[in-house]
Amino acid sequence: MKINTGSLPTGVREFSFVEDTGTVGLDDRFFGEIAVLAQVEKTSKMVLLKAILHAKANLTCDRCAEAFVSDIKKEYRTVYFFNEEDTGGYPKEEIVILPSDNTVIDITDDVRQFTQLTIPLKVLCQPECKGLCQECGTNLNKNTCSCTATYVDPRWEQLNKLLKQN
Ligand SMILES: [Zn+2]
Ligand SMILES: [Zn+2]
Repeated sequence: MKINTGSLPTGVREFSFVEDTGTVGLDDRFFGEIAVLAQVEKTSKMVLLKAILHAKANLTCDRCAEAFVSDIKKEYRTVYFFNEEDTGGYPKEEIVILPSDNTVIDITDDVRQFTQLTIPLKVLCQPECKGLCQECGTNLNKNTCSCTATYVDPRWEQLNKLLKQN
């Protein structure tokens, strides 16, 4: 996913890339193709890149253990400067200083990292996932069960024990 900034005239241009997720170096949770739409604005001082990523991943819910396909969309911005002195006004994490002999920007590494970061540490199939019954293991998103025991958070159980002791 390369943008030839050397030959790029000043002004706004759009680039689009479609590549296999494996080619970009994404892990095997991701499948099919990743699409990137990049809007690139070149001035005498910088190249401003706004990218929108679109990919799909096979994930497993951490609460109900159900497999599902996640439709991933992510936007990010990077500002490539030709000189370090010109970088005022942009957040540090968005700034890249280009070497003076640079003519091509390769966005593959950024695309891979931003895509991977969209997957949270705790994966949920839906924000309100009901999870599994603690007694019989029924997936409570799909079925109800006849278990009478209500689930007690282990932390509360500890507290209840303490209260009974006193
Ligand atoms: Zn779930
Ligand atoms: Zn149950």
